[in-house]
Amino acid sequence: MSDHYEALGVPRDASTEDIKKAYRKLARKLHPDVNPGEAERFKDVSAAYDVLSNPEKRRAYDRGESLGGFGGGGAGAGFGFSDIFETFFGGAAGGGGRGPASRARRGQDALVRVEVDLRDAVFGADRELQVDTAVVCSTCQGSCCQPGTSPRTCEVCGGRGQVQRQVRSFLGQVMTTAPCPNCGGFGTTIPNPCPECAGEGRVQERRTLTVRIPPGVSTGTRIQLAGQSEVGFGGGPPGDLFVEVVERDHETFTRRGDDLHCTVQVPMTAAALGTTLSVDTLDGSQSVDVRAGTQSGEVHTLRGLGVGHLRGGGRGDLLVHVDVQTPTRLDERQEELLRQLAEMRGEEAAEGRLTSAGGGVFGRLRDLISGR
Ligand SMILES: [Zn+2]
Ligand SMILES: [Zn+2]
Repeated sequence: MSDHYEALGVPRDASTEDIKKAYRKLARKLHPDVNPGEAERFKDVSAAYDVLSNPEKRRAYDRGESLGGFGGGGAGAGFGFSDIFETFFGGAAGGGGRGPASRARRGQDALVRVEVDLRDAVFGADRELQVDTAVVCSTCQGSCCQPGTSPRTCEVCGGRGQVQRQVRSFLGQVMTTAPCPNCGGFGTTIPNPCPECAGEGRVQERRTLTVRIPPGVSTGTRIQLAGQSEVGFGGGPPGDLFVEVVERDHETFTRRGDDLHCTVQVPMTAAALGTTLSVDTLDGSQSVDVRAGTQSGEVHTLRGLGVGHLRGGGRGDLLVHVDVQTPTRLDERQEELLRQLAEMRGEEAAEGRLTSAGGGVFGRLRDLISGR
């Protein structure tokens, strides 16, 4: 490779502006579309400009170092020049000189929603999903061609995937590259498309797959299944399937974070005298001791009977709220007994007693609502 300063015909202390001017002048004269016989010199000039127009590369060059050759891309066959040329002269955006594009495209990601009930959220579950998606066409194996045929080199672009276009610029008419309209930039056409997939390389299919729902999921949790979405055009790699959870409400248990809440109704007499209740939890029957004198709104915590934590092990708690039931529809004898009880307790003409909002049922209710 010749000396870069010599190639551009500039002194070693030339300013960046001088270098730019020198390159423009030479490029106008030497560009292969203008002067095909000067391809080698154009290559040298472009390589020189690539180095000298970049202060860092220029300093390294002046110190006698090489920064890994021209263009940094190592693309060989001169891909680098058209890049520079296009950057410099504002040619076609993208795609310049990069050769034909592959037909295979990555498939799109997809999102499916799956409803889970509380039991699945608490313990986790395996769920079968049916997805309608695209799979590689088994007739053409994704090649898009009818079996026994093959793609044909595009006669418009000669397989390059690109065509040159004339564009007006300050240079006058210059050529720039654009994707070939005949082959769509692929460099080949498919004269005999696969009849099974109509030349797409993929077909629609209903697939059944099993997804592991971990404990702790809730509405909006997404589970990523890599490579389980549709296969791309031309048999390209599949996208990812995202499974989004929608959690169904439970008729008995209300979820707050990873804790569960339920309410158990206790007759007034049982609350006053004390009893042992059997509560049907998701872990089976559990006994809850209701001490004598239990008030409405008291909470019993059953540790570790809530929802499994999504991250880390362990589970939340189950909080059982006691709701003391006042009897209604008393028969004569019951009413008589209650009156006797009231008399014995001096409550025949009881007046309501005011308490601060911090205590009593309302305080506990407030704590519950605010999650304390
Ligand atoms: Zn096919
Ligand atoms: Zn073409």
